[in-house]
Amino acid sequence: MLIRARNSIRWRIAIPYMLLILAAVASLSLYAARLLRQTAIAQEKEQLLLEATMVRQGLVAPLESGDLAQLATVAKQYAGLLGARVTIVAPNGEVLAESDNDPDGMRNHLFRPEIQQALAGGQGSAVRASDTLGVDMIYAAVRVDAGGRPLGFVRVALPQRDLTRQLEGLGRALLLVALTAGAVALLLAIGIAESVTRPIRQLTVAVHRLVRGELDQHLVRSTSDEVGQLTSDTMEMANQLRQTIEDLNAERGRLEAVLDNMADAVIITDSQGLVSLINPAAQRLTHTGKSGALGRSFAQVVRQHEVTSVWRACVDSGEQHLEVMDLGDDLMQVVATPLSSIEPGACLVVLQDVGQVRRLEGMRREFVSNISHELRTPLASMRAIADTLRDGALDDPPAAARFLSRMDGQIDSLTQMVEELLELSRIESGQVPIRLERVAVDRFVVPAVERLLPQAERSQLDLAVDIPGSLPLVLGDVQRLQQVVTNLVHNAIKFTAAGGSIRVHADWASERVVVSVTDTGIGIPSELQPRIFERFFKADRSRSTGGTGLGLAIAKHIVQAHGGRIWFESEEGQGSRFHFSLLSADKRPD
Ligand code: ADP
Repeated sequence: MLIRARNSIRWRIAIPYMLLILAAVASLSLYAARLLRQTAIAQEKEQLLLEATMVRQGLVAPLESGDLAQLATVAKQYAGLLGARVTIVAPNGEVLAESDNDPDGMRNHLFRPEIQQALAGGQGSAVRASDTLGVDMIYAAVRVDAGGRPLGFVRVALPQRDLTRQLEGLGRALLLVALTAGAVALLLAIGIAESVTRPIRQLTVAVHRLVRGELDQHLVRSTSDEVGQLTSDTMEMANQLRQTIEDLNAERGRLEAVLDNMADAVIITDSQGLVSLINPAAQRLTHTGKSGALGRSFAQVVRQHEVTSVWRACVDSGEQHLEVMDLGDDLMQVVATPLSSIEPGACLVVLQDVGQVRRLEGMRREFVSNISHELRTPLASMRAIADTLRDGALDDPPAAARFLSRMDGQIDSLTQMVEELLELSRIESGQVPIRLERVAVDRFVVPAVERLLPQAERSQLDLAVDIPGSLPLVLGDVQRLQQVVTNLVHNAIKFTAAGGSIRVHADWASERVVVSVTDTGIGIPSELQPRIFERFFKADRSRSTGGTGLGLAIAKHIVQAHGGRIWFESEEGQGSRFHFSLLSADKRPD
């Protein structure tokens, strides 16, 4: 329950209204009842005075004569006639006759208020308890005069009870009317309170849900007053809040994606030096999980005191610190940046593996040394030949011809190497245009294999081609693809001992044609396999086998320029299996 019922604004409006209405109805009823009663008593007094005046006519004679019996008769007669109590009093207050009682036992009446009024002004009335009867009575008395001299008083009285009985009926009717009016007014008060507070309650429920995070609240403005304005403003605010939260979520998603996918390790610490953010790269680096790292101190998570000291220097000085350090196998660049704009004392630490740069540097050095080595051998051999010729071999024409042909061989291999290098750099820089056409696989496989058949035979190898007729055409540049097949088959011949076999096969799967060259040769040691496509790389460290180490690099670039992929499986001593895939020009015929 949102708000306790008795605290609800509806009841806070309705209850005072109800009390006010009840008080008004009650006081109005009381006032009306009193007024009614007073009016009735006044009328009754008037009536009794009239009656007393009427009785007065018949009393002059008996009073003058002092005929008590006559007086008693008159009193009784009128009492019966009027249905009231009739008392006849002497000017000195002595009761001469009484319709309901024996006058002898009655006290002097001179100081009864109605008698006093009659004595002074001719007539008087009063409402009071009767001494004689002990009940509330209404009295009216008139003076009986004769010749300017008072003869006595006649008093007519009625018990108030009779009037009360009449008034009670009237009072009940009045109460009924008052209660009905009160009930109607109450219902109205509740209805008004309900209609006034309904939009407020709806708004309260909507705002409560907003607070709980349910931001898609729709409330239609139902009134044009302040509450209506509040409703539309609140809905506007909720929309803006939702928009802001969506924007923030999207922003956070982007930031998380960047942090999750970046290779650099990122750690943020808060003002107390506790880790408040750690990305997956940093988790891998520190061998911790996210939950294990968050909320722990930087030193506990990173555990490398060199890194911790860079972070500490940044926290202490409030300035950026950068250091490159050798951490075992890794060369790390650590950058610690203060994040005081976000939170005083917070710090961002980025750890970047700069070992890759070092490895590239190493590759560059190796490349230069390899190329020097490749150049040095034929150059040294040519110098030796030139020296031999100069030292007299020129005089021996058959020997000179032999030396010159060896020199030719060296020049050829140098030329081939330079051409391969040029070719590779042109392919790498995208200068070699690839002219894609729809070609059958055997158009580039068969000529390449045929060209290498004599070499395979010389090496006593069984070279076979197996291309199913059902293969679709592929999109490719025949010349370039011939070069790829040549390089792969040439390698297979070079690295397979006599008696082995080489098989060129093609197949197709998921819209791609895969050409494979399988040999039963020496295979490639698994630790060298990742480097096999590098320029100048040769598994044979002595570099005594022919070739420049460029063949696979060239093949890889050509295949990639076709949108294909090149890969291999190999086991040392068992053989190798090189594959490259090409996009087929047609869908597979079902
Ligand atoms: P190379 O001119 O030396 O053949 P490649 O780039 O074609 O240069 O090959 C690089 C190295 O990969 C080779 O020196 C060899 O060590 C290894 N290699 C390539 N193909 C094979 C194969 N079929 N069997 C064994 N080793 C291979």
